[in-house]
Amino acid sequence: MKESTKLMFQKHGWRVDRFVHNYYYFLFYYPYVAISRRFILLLKYLSWCKPIVPVGKMVFNRYHSKVLSHEDTRKIFTLNEDIRHVSDENKKIVPYKYATKIIFQEPDNIVVMDCPCKKATNAPKEDINSCIAVGKSVTSFWLEQCQKYHPRKISQQEALEIIHRFRKKKHITQAFFKVATGGSTGVICNCHPDTCVSLQATKFAGRISDQLSMTAKSGYSVVFEGERCVACGHCADMCGFDAITFVNGRRTYTKDLCMGCGLCVEDCPENAMSLYVDPDKPLPLDLDMIRARAASPSI
Ligand code: SF4
Ligand code: SF4
Repeated sequence: MKESTKLMFQKHGWRVDRFVHNYYYFLFYYPYVAISRRFILLLKYLSWCKPIVPVGKMVFNRYHSKVLSHEDTRKIFTLNEDIRHVSDENKKIVPYKYATKIIFQEPDNIVVMDCPCKKATNAPKEDINSCIAVGKSVTSFWLEQCQKYHPRKISQQEALEIIHRFRKKKHITQAFFKVATGGSTGVICNCHPDTCVSLQATKFAGRISDQLSMTAKSGYSVVFEGERCVACGHCADMCGFDAITFVNGRRTYTKDLCMGCGLCVEDCPENAMSLYVDPDKPLPLDLDMIRARAASPSI
């Protein structure tokens, strides 16, 4: 048995079913996601059919993402110690039933590989190699067994540069959580609403039920400093969720639509916007805040 297979087997313990799922998920990363995308398209056409809601709930409780701000991503890619938070408290950050473990083990092991969503949606060739794994258990498997998806080891600095490059191109940053991969973090990807299967799934799921979502908001909302704004409209151009619109030069911000990705804030030429922790949203995946809460649970 290959070393990375052993590592994956150990991660899942007695849940051999999850090991098998995880093994084939990564081994056939692209066809797995391409088939899932077709399933989601089917959901879209069956959105009128109410009996489909329990099926959607079952899937979305097991596979989801958490939107990350640029700063919270930076904290992950500069980690020099293991992070392991396995607690029901994490549901305040990743508000789902099962996959909520925040684990970054040996976090300086980082690998970038072809993104199956971008391949499945015919994204530009130069954007394909953009799915990032953090931590030994995933990176060793990708390097040893996923050569067909062009994995390559990168430094923390290179990972940050990739994130920065994609954010400039309107890609948000998301941490993925999946029951089949141990219920924990491990893959961080650069996602565009036009090419990300999980963002598309969330959009279609919303038509079936407003209770269904595959994507957890970052935990931040946007505040504007009105006097600095010159109504250039860049923030609306950057937003992939229609949370900011301009009609006749008048800006509208819809907090409920805002994923808190921060792309608009970074692109504002006048520094007229900032993010704040929004008590109406799930808590951010901010490693400093997570450490502080672990040290003092009353926070
Ligand atoms: S990008 Fe900044 S300056 Fe331009 S419209 Fe938006 S808030 Fe105003
Ligand atoms: S309004 Fe800004 S922070 Fe909110 S989703 Fe749009 S781009 Fe992201």
